[in-house]
Amino acid sequence: MSSPAPLSYSSYHTYSECPLRWKFLYRDRLPETPRGYFTFGRVVHSVLEEIIRPLVVPTARRVSLGDAQRTLDEWHPSGSTHSPHLEITREQLLEAYDRIWSSEGYTTPEEEARYRTLGRDLLLRYYERLVREQPHPVSVEEHLEARWDGIPIHGYIDRIDRTPDGGLEIMDYKTSRELSGEDARQSEQLSIYQVLVESNYTEPVEGLTLYHLRSLTPHRVPPRPRTALLALHDRLGSVQDGIRAEAFEPTPGRQCSRCDFQSRCPEFRPVPTSDEPRLRELVDRFETLRHDERRLEEELRKTAEELHRAAEGFGVHRIPGTRSVAIRRREETWQYSLNGIRPEVDAAGLDERLGKGTPEEVRRVLRDASVDPELRRRMAETGSRRVKWYWELDEGTPSG
Ligand code: SF4
Repeated sequence: MSSPAPLSYSSYHTYSECPLRWKFLYRDRLPETPRGYFTFGRVVHSVLEEIIRPLVVPTARRVSLGDAQRTLDEWHPSGSTHSPHLEITREQLLEAYDRIWSSEGYTTPEEEARYRTLGRDLLLRYYERLVREQPHPVSVEEHLEARWDGIPIHGYIDRIDRTPDGGLEIMDYKTSRELSGEDARQSEQLSIYQVLVESNYTEPVEGLTLYHLRSLTPHRVPPRPRTALLALHDRLGSVQDGIRAEAFEPTPGRQCSRCDFQSRCPEFRPVPTSDEPRLRELVDRFETLRHDERRLEEELRKTAEELHRAAEGFGVHRIPGTRSVAIRRREETWQYSLNGIRPEVDAAGLDERLGKGTPEEVRRVLRDASVDPELRRRMAETGSRRVKWYWELDEGTPSG
């Protein structure tokens, strides 16, 4: 059996969305229609690479790069240990932008002109930011590979910076319209990059950043805990198994609207003409029922709320109707918010045991006599109880 090709984030993501689309792209290597916004992102990334590369001071690596490897200590050709300075001018930046610009994929000259102006503004504003807050990159657009517990992975990382504490910060530029802190917290791309950097560099990863270029906002989050990485490793493993087993099922979803392979996809095969009216009717009926379902759910929620208010007012849990009796039941859940005492929890080495901080995980630690009682008391104090009421119908009970 041939060894599987390394998974990149986009390959993993594509397979997770639709294995058949993965096959068309990565196995059959079918070309996609160029799109203006992809070209735009590529051009902006290339210009940033060009202006930031002269600032790179490479750092120690786990894998020897032979003669090409340099470290900070060796990087002072004029006897200075300072990092290089940003020397490119605004004019040079714009010259690079014009040189690298590509018209590929834009549907109209107006669309291209709009993107071109946007890119120019965005790069000039980012340039001003770079002049004021010069970064300390150890690499730009670096291709890294690793074998993560049996799974080969790889990726091109926009930038890796040295932090003031001597650690590393991974940065990925985004040219998208919107980006939030939640995107950075959820990004599996950043998680894969963290593993790649940890496998190739000796310094610790201290931060992961999605940099939103349109608003000049860095969304920075701490490195992922081991539990999150293990869960991702499982998901990557499933994708690798699927590829190895040639499991290329079409999986329709939102991604279909931007998939270039609809004409080859069985999901988009036209239904036989004779069955068309009947199927159309079924789909329309399904849509109507789904709509009714939502309306009824909303009505049910409002009725339950009104019953709840009445029950609270009369101090009862049982309200008779004509045919049955409504009985109010309660469900209790506990939440622990450990953020405020995170440093103490980490210092006690409980990070791994607490995992995602679910109530069950916290309670297990609270019951553990080997954990400092004072810390357990403080953890318990972060708990809060949530009560949820719901209604059941006792249809066998006569009313009254
Ligand atoms: S059209 Fe949809 S289901 Fe078909 S290959 Fe593309 S993404 Fe997959």
